[in-house]
Amino acid sequence: MHKYELSPYKNGTAVPAYLPLPRFLVSMDLSNDAKILYALFFDRAGISRENGYIEPDGRTRLYFTLEEAKEKLHRSRQVANRAFQEQERNNLIVRRKQGLVYCADCGAKLYYCTCTSYKDDSQDHFLCSNYKSNTGSCQIHYIREITLYKRVLECIQRTLTYVRLFRDDFTQEMLAQDEASRKAELMQKRKALSGSQKRMEDLDKIIQRLYEDSVLGRLSELRFQKLSAQYESEQAEIRQLAVSLEREIENEAGQIADVGRFLKLADRYSDLQELDASTVNELIHRIVIHSPEKTGGRKHVTIEIYFTYVGKIRIPLHKPEPVSGTEKPA
Ligand SMILES: [Zn+2]
Repeated sequence: MHKYELSPYKNGTAVPAYLPLPRFLVSMDLSNDAKILYALFFDRAGISRENGYIEPDGRTRLYFTLEEAKEKLHRSRQVANRAFQEQERNNLIVRRKQGLVYCADCGAKLYYCTCTSYKDDSQDHFLCSNYKSNTGSCQIHYIREITLYKRVLECIQRTLTYVRLFRDDFTQEMLAQDEASRKAELMQKRKALSGSQKRMEDLDKIIQRLYEDSVLGRLSELRFQKLSAQYESEQAEIRQLAVSLEREIENEAGQIADVGRFLKLADRYSDLQELDASTVNELIHRIVIHSPEKTGGRKHVTIEIYFTYVGKIRIPLHKPEPVSGTEKPA
């Protein structure tokens, strides 16, 4: 996947592709990961500028996900997230949380709109990126940022309180849920894997037989080439599928420990009063916005919140804690 081209740097060697690392960064009190990440941003910013991605305050807007940082730095999610946080604290970047908000109907990202016609930002909102002023393929999925902010904050506070108060219940429920869904998923994946292994064996046999036929003159050379190429490309496809299935099956083994990680997060954010981008990024994996529904003359927008490490958390109704759910009128 990654190509490493290492050649000794001698007189006359062409300069390899490089990242711009601003000098002021070198002596800043930042981790090296944060510095490299900044160089990556700086590099990306060039493309953004060319495309006119400039914010009203003159900052360059660029799209760079935590996942991407993780991959490029070869680091864990936490290390990558910390690199973002360091930059934020040092006012090198401003993070937007729009990357977390998705449409429930089409799965696309919701995008963030600032209204220039208003003096304050009370009308800033999110829209489904497939809505395109009613000419696109999806509904509007409109939600004001301030509404979303309030509801997400409320939901996080309520959930974290529940998790802290009923630590054992929460752990048990998550594990049970995890077990059940993991088992079902694992079974499906194992089945798919064994199916693909079986098909591989069959293809091996078919190719072998084709070869024999061609040697014995029962099959023309041209026909043999054509058929074997076809089967080999199918094999290559299956091999790829099998590799990714194996990896997924392997990865799933490591997931149970994540409940513990989430509990640690819950403890750390025990006194959460407001949200900023780094908090949201650390706690939340994904926010899904449903289309508004009218019930009894009021519009309801359902918001689903998927937490980091554990996904959706249902607060049981029979607990003394306030009502569950992510559902409240918008
Ligand atoms: Zn949509």
